[in-house]
Amino acid sequence: MTWKISKGSLDEKSLLLNESLFALGNGYLGVRGNFEEGYQQGNNSIRGTYINAFHDETEISYGEKLHAFPDTQQKLVNIIDSQDVTIFIDGELFSLFSGKVMEYEQNLHFDGGYSERIIRWLSPNGKEVKLHFRRMVSFVLKELFLIDIKVEPVTPVNEIKIVSSVNGDVSNYIDKNDPRVASGHAKRLFVKEAGMQAEYSIVRNQTMVTNLEVACVTDSTVAASDYQYNSETSESGVKEIYTCNGNKPVQFTKFNVYTDTLRHQEKLVETGLGILQKIKGAVFEDFIVEQTAYLTNFWNNSDVTISGDQALQEGIRFNLFHLLQSVGKDPVSNIAAKGLSGEGYEGHYFWDTEIYMFPVFLMTNPDLAKNLLVQRYSTLDSARLRAKEMGHSKGALFPWRTITGTESSGFFPAGTAQYHISADIAYSYVQYFLATTDVSFLKDYMAEVLFETARLWMDTGHMYNGQFRIDNVTGPDEYTCIVNNNYYTNIMAKNNLNWAAKVYKLLEEVDSTLLDRMKAELSLNEEEVREWTEAAENMYLPYDEKLGINAQDDTFLQKNRWDLQATPKEKFPLLLNYHPLTLYRYQVCKQADTVLGHFLLEDEQNLETIKKSYDYYEQVTTHDSSLSYCIFSIMASKLGYTEKAYDYFMKTARLDLDNTHGNTKDGLHMANMGGTWMAIVYGFAGLRLKETGLSFAPFLPPKKWETASFNVQFQNRLLSVTMEKDAISYWLKAGEALTFRHFDQAITLQTGEEIKISTDSEEHDRSLAIV
Ligand code: BGC
Repeated sequence: MTWKISKGSLDEKSLLLNESLFALGNGYLGVRGNFEEGYQQGNNSIRGTYINAFHDETEISYGEKLHAFPDTQQKLVNIIDSQDVTIFIDGELFSLFSGKVMEYEQNLHFDGGYSERIIRWLSPNGKEVKLHFRRMVSFVLKELFLIDIKVEPVTPVNEIKIVSSVNGDVSNYIDKNDPRVASGHAKRLFVKEAGMQAEYSIVRNQTMVTNLEVACVTDSTVAASDYQYNSETSESGVKEIYTCNGNKPVQFTKFNVYTDTLRHQEKLVETGLGILQKIKGAVFEDFIVEQTAYLTNFWNNSDVTISGDQALQEGIRFNLFHLLQSVGKDPVSNIAAKGLSGEGYEGHYFWDTEIYMFPVFLMTNPDLAKNLLVQRYSTLDSARLRAKEMGHSKGALFPWRTITGTESSGFFPAGTAQYHISADIAYSYVQYFLATTDVSFLKDYMAEVLFETARLWMDTGHMYNGQFRIDNVTGPDEYTCIVNNNYYTNIMAKNNLNWAAKVYKLLEEVDSTLLDRMKAELSLNEEEVREWTEAAENMYLPYDEKLGINAQDDTFLQKNRWDLQATPKEKFPLLLNYHPLTLYRYQVCKQADTVLGHFLLEDEQNLETIKKSYDYYEQVTTHDSSLSYCIFSIMASKLGYTEKAYDYFMKTARLDLDNTHGNTKDGLHMANMGGTWMAIVYGFAGLRLKETGLSFAPFLPPKKWETASFNVQFQNRLLSVTMEKDAISYWLKAGEALTFRHFDQAITLQTGEEIKISTDSEEHDRSLAIV
């Protein structure tokens, strides 16, 4: 039951939403869940096909442009549309909005990796047909997007006509009133080539500014008792027409192969044709077999099962499936904030990757996690340049939002000023190292990234009265901008500096020749490393004695509190209804900020401060950002707030399925999807990954759930964890013996061994247990 999402009827109001929910992708190619035949009524569809990182560049227009404001930004491009297939039954155009829909079912299969629509339709003239649409974006052959359609006459039909198009005249979606969506520059591509080559249709496009090219080469097959074939080529695309005898069912399959210059160099069409020739003769079922095998492997490592709550189980698998569909798997791609499911945030990569999505892959699929870090590493030179542009003498400043590595944020207070992204990246590098102990990773990537980000903090902050302070930055909370000593930023910078110094020592031990070379190349010396440690030791962390909490920054607690209770519902999200300056003047948070700092680096404060801070910030947080609930759920688990942990968790698990943020039409909220997994694994199971190793402090809310289980990969082992109402089991499925902690108890498991621990009467001080 819970291996798919289903819609049992056609709900016109949810069409746009469903296009995002039913999107298919494989990390390279993404196709929204549009209808092949289109809607033919109203303007209620965002038709989209995307290739991860395939972008154009557009100018950022400012009224007043100041120094080092970026001139241009990147934009994920909506590429050649191969989704189009229209069907005529004895001359009547099939549409779900004419005639009568007698049966309707739409499914997205998480185990088979395809979507389908099963329809029984009565035409206005009384012809009845069954239609079965299936589509797949292959995980095995990344360039391939397949559509398979079966048309079966129920009442006598003379002719079934199928018109299949590939269209290069495409534009991006814009919305002038929503800052989370592009407001202009809709047309980013032009057609360079359109036509037939033997039985293949070919459309090749080029972006306007970046001159990147994309090609879609299509092979179509028809199984019918008899048919006539025709093709038409226009300037913008190709149309193929199959006029079939209606006495028997007709099966039409369209194999679309996408290639682009970021991955396939110059010979796009030739490469596409080569791929099509290799798969000649294969049918849709063959690809289901391959896709299922790929996904079986994925689910074996990554599945989370929850018994006793179907809606939740559906939500979790849905989220994990979309994470897999979105994660970049090659050197030029990362994960966009909306994955490949829509155009919100223009396909940009944010800190969402490192803090919200990377952990899922790190603990279930470390190779995919590594790719994300390596992709960031490939932009290190851009980050160095950006630091220079921003007036720093040394170091690397990673861009707030980007595709290729250059800053794409036009609104610096909630963009570039979020310097914490550099420390977030450093944090994820450390987490990867702790989870894998991969020394070659440390040597090849981690050391350089940590050194250069540490340098950024030294150049941004300064010593004052014996404390290291960081002025004029923005923390994660985008309703409070350009502040001094944002707790989150300072604590993450402290971690960054400490680890840079540690890595220096580690490198000295494991490869001093390499260290010497790096020191020469980067003009790095021991004195600089000593300064890192000194700055970290003296990092100023704002604390309010009276409230007993960490202040979000130097002035946050002095401001008036925003009256959230008195704010009408329709005024949320606040960002769409108030000028930023209005928001900045109040104590009001868009998302977890200090609370997130307390989660990521929990040993920096005592439990009382963490608890009081949670209680305080919860009152002033709107959760207008979807990156917020999961963190509040995780921390509620840590603090033993059972109801809250569960309630916030429920909000993450079905955020897109239930469209609770109202903008899922622009794409899925990928960070929140990662957050769902984190709320289970870091929240309910209390997993932490520290220098001291792996630990758990489990906590299962006693609501409807009977059991919850998941797997984690840790240092080449596979550990399976099952939480029950009054017990937890740890089973070392693969890998050498493993020692980890359950609260304050050290447990060693041999390969294949399982241990079940009663949690019934345990009274642990949860925070102490996981130090
Ligand atoms: C959040 C950011 C996030 C961005 C992309 C914004 O609404 O405030 O933290 O990085 O969305 O998901």
